[in-house]
Amino acid sequence: MRERRRRTMNSPSFSGLAHKTVIVTGGSKGIGAGIVEQFAKLGGARVAIADVDSQGEALAERWRKDGCEVRYYSCDVSRTFDIERMMAAVENDFGGVDVLVNNAGIFPRGDLMSTDEALWDRVIGINLKGVFLMCKAAAPAMIRQGTGGSIINIGSLHSAKGEDNTLAYAVSKGGLITMTRNLAHALAKHSIRVNCVHPGWVASEGEVSRWEGLGTHEFDHIQRSIQNLPLGRMQTGTDIANAAVFLASDLAEQITGQMLTVDGGLSVRRPLSD
Ligand code: NAD
Repeated sequence: MRERRRRTMNSPSFSGLAHKTVIVTGGSKGIGAGIVEQFAKLGGARVAIADVDSQGEALAERWRKDGCEVRYYSCDVSRTFDIERMMAAVENDFGGVDVLVNNAGIFPRGDLMSTDEALWDRVIGINLKGVFLMCKAAAPAMIRQGTGGSIINIGSLHSAKGEDNTLAYAVSKGGLITMTRNLAHALAKHSIRVNCVHPGWVASEGEVSRWEGLGTHEFDHIQRSIQNLPLGRMQTGTDIANAAVFLASDLAEQITGQMLTVDGGLSVRRPLSD
């Protein structure tokens, strides 16, 4: 651990992220994979992918071939046992934890009547309780190190919308805003900053799979919505990752408890009529 600290302090890095250890939940694909790439390549950080999808193993191997330090750890963020095992392995392999990106999430549709108790528990268990459990495990590791830290939660604009078919998802992401603000205050005395990034619309694997099976009318509406985006395109995982890298870096050392929306203007556009 001492060796790791010495190397961190001596490494030149504009952002202070070189050789820091970053855990990215849900980093095996989609936005998470973009976050893994930017921390490893732009920040020069060591990255731990914590995901239930073992696709992260091949991803980590690919980045290692490019000279990046990336490892995959099998972990379900809704299970304390998995998290404690993963956290111990990361601390053992990398010597500590500096940054946590809570990105893992699921987005099943459902309104009040169609959301049953099992679906509610699953969404809240992964999207909200999973973040609580990850913070509960990572914060003590950051405090033990004594060099501060950064937690970044990946939220959603659905938390502020009145759409009726994303009830559990929207509530889980609304809870993340409260958790971000609460933990930002509670952990500030340890120099641990907590912020939230709201992605706009990213054509991740998860998002594209939700388009499958849509009728022509709904699909046409999606096409027109994309054309109506103020900055002219959907976001990529890299767009979201850049915001996360900034928030984790020294450039954001006085920023905590904040929401950063990366949506190309989606939230300020004039709505389409059907
Ligand atoms: P995705 O489905 O493409 O990827 C999600 C990743 O999380 C997968 O690798 C999956 O295996 C992992 N995961 C799921 N459950 C897990 C669990 N219990 N433990 C560990 N890992 C788990 O999704 P995405 O579109 O890349 O979304 C990533 C995050 O961004 C989510 O929190 C999502 O709510 C949020 N988001 C996405 C969009 C978008 O447009 N795609 C918009 C707003 C917010």
